[in-house]
Amino acid sequence: MDLTFDSQTGLLPAVAQDRLTGQVRMVAYMNREALERTLRTGNATFFSRSRNALWTKGETSGHVLRVHAVYADCDADTLVLLVDPEGPSCHTGRPSCFFRRLGPDGAVESEAVEAEPFLQLLERILRDRTTSTAERSYTRSLLDGGAEKIGKKMREEADEYARALASESDQRVLDEAADVVYHLLVGLRLRGLDVRALLAVLADRTKQSGHAEKASRHR
Ligand SMILES: [Zn+2]
Repeated sequence: MDLTFDSQTGLLPAVAQDRLTGQVRMVAYMNREALERTLRTGNATFFSRSRNALWTKGETSGHVLRVHAVYADCDADTLVLLVDPEGPSCHTGRPSCFFRRLGPDGAVESEAVEAEPFLQLLERILRDRTTSTAERSYTRSLLDGGAEKIGKKMREEADEYARALASESDQRVLDEAADVVYHLLVGLRLRGLDVRALLAVLADRTKQSGHAEKASRHR
């Protein structure tokens, strides 16, 4: 099955999605040459309709999108690039171009907030708790207690999870697993480590090489 580039413009839209967090980073257009260069170099390259020229994302800013895999949709006229983004992907300096949420009336809200898959949203909430002094939250008290307090809770929760797994209901297993994951995330926050870095370690263990890895091997 061949890709369907627009018959007038020779372009098709390409959505760049973080392969680890699932966040949609940006959308741009590709012609055949941009796609070929993307596949060859492993760096997302688009066609700029305003400049009428190819541009490799990050060629001036350094904020490249390393392409892991490319998918076409059902009718092969739109692409998804699964990427490892370096730095922010939007020219405004925000991680993603999609930070303008619509209200129920369809109007764009004034407050800028990224469209985040849930794990990232959870991470941002924990980060906000780290810096906020206004409220006394459970998260805040854990962070104030440091590695000792978080470690103690982690051991308790791991034990409860193990017990649930052995002899309790599925719902109990899920509840205890959620407790473990929550405390695990608070621990990462204490150390200033991103969830994405954790996912990268897990991804490395699957050893699935992509376009970017293959391109760098040929260099
Ligand atoms: Zn943007």
